[in-house]
Amino acid sequence: MKRAAKYGFCSGVRIADLKVKRFAAAGGKGAILGQVVHNERVVQELEQLGVRTVEEIAAIAEPTIIFSAHGVPGSFHDEARAAGLKVLDTTCKFVYDIHHESKRALFDGFHLIFIGDPRHREVIGYTHDLDPARYHIISTIVEAEAIDWSRYEKLKVFYQTTLNAEEFEEVVQAVERRAARVDRGDTICYATKENQEAARVLAADPEIDLIVVVGGKQSANTKHLWEICREGKRSYLVQGADDLESSWFEKSSVVGLTAGASTPDYVIDEVEDRLARISE
Ligand code: SF4
Repeated sequence: MKRAAKYGFCSGVRIADLKVKRFAAAGGKGAILGQVVHNERVVQELEQLGVRTVEEIAAIAEPTIIFSAHGVPGSFHDEARAAGLKVLDTTCKFVYDIHHESKRALFDGFHLIFIGDPRHREVIGYTHDLDPARYHIISTIVEAEAIDWSRYEKLKVFYQTTLNAEEFEEVVQAVERRAARVDRGDTICYATKENQEAARVLAADPEIDLIVVVGGKQSANTKHLWEICREGKRSYLVQGADDLESSWFEKSSVVGLTAGASTPDYVIDEVEDRLARISE
């Protein structure tokens, strides 16, 4: 078996997970707004510690609201305070960097472009409170080409942290061809990129027969890792050891293993142990 050189929890998620567990261990009573990470096992584990996951602030009966590593719009903090809630904020430092840099860019008169998924909580965090006339969210060349960027004096581009900026280079270039001035926010998170590059190495490794990708089925970055692996090798996405099927490994001698940024270490270890037993 070969593990990818980089896989699993990024620093932001690791810190968020620790903060919530410390809070629960100290007897804190709280509810998380949206999954703390996109991993069902982590959600269940936190529920066992007494920390529920809720989808809206109004659903919180506990004294504390917990904001996940993805971050939230500033107005959510106001709303929580107005509801008399205490806030445990586990927003990743790199996400806050984008919040701060995008606010500065708006103040400096830039029109903002977020490269990402408009439904992703991180992107909602950046854009929810903004005047819709001051920003666009795009992710494809078609979208980039459909907008007359020459209307804006200056544009600033930010990437959703879970994206690999290199893969969206053509999208940004399509904007640049049509705009007077485009600045790029220097806010790329290398955690996702490193996991993806390590997955590419596994996919290209001639010794490896197939790859197991461990992660939540709702995790966008896990799905993306799976796509990368499938380009080079037969690959399976599993949420945990119980999803492994021994028939997958019948003609395979070397298995590659990687995991999405929202996958806790113990889930990866369980998968590795089960793989070792399957190959005995
Ligand atoms: S992927 Fe990067 S930005 Fe997102 S939580 Fe992890 S460390 Fe923070």
